[in-house]
Amino acid sequence: MDHLKIAAKSIWKERYTKGFAFFCPLCATPRRLGMHPKPGQPIHYAQVFSAAMFFTLITWSFFEWKGIVSFVPFWIAFEIFYRAKVRASVACKKCGFDPVLYLVDVDRARSAVESHWKVKFEEKGIPYPGSTGTRAPALEESEAAPRKKAVKSAPASDEEITQ
Ligand SMILES: [Zn+2]
Repeated sequence: MDHLKIAAKSIWKERYTKGFAFFCPLCATPRRLGMHPKPGQPIHYAQVFSAAMFFTLITWSFFEWKGIVSFVPFWIAFEIFYRAKVRASVACKKCGFDPVLYLVDVDRARSAVESHWKVKFEEKGIPYPGSTGTRAPALEESEAAPRKKAVKSAPASDEEITQ
């Protein structure tokens, strides 16, 4: 009931202004990234541009004004590090749900949650219950069941014939 109270309070206005708050889609834990999920905000351009300006000034004797072209490699490096940082912090620490991985591959996201809980169960010394009740073996059983019935029904009919 606690997270329902939190959910009733709208956070729409503070999503982009105060560190991108959201709820974990799997366990409903309130989450906060502390940074915008996508690079390309005005402050990022200002930061990278000031770095490029600094580079231009210290290499003025070699490149003169052409040193400002360093904005491009600086931006590439910035974007790689920024996206890696968002990627690392977006996964839920409580349930192991990774929204980015979910967008890429649902099955991998599911197995990531499963391995997260396996580690947690091992830490507590409890055998993981999912080893018998996971979705994949259940699907295999349901698929195999009609085949077994078909195999069993074939000898039964033979017996009926012989009798
Ligand atoms: Zn979660």
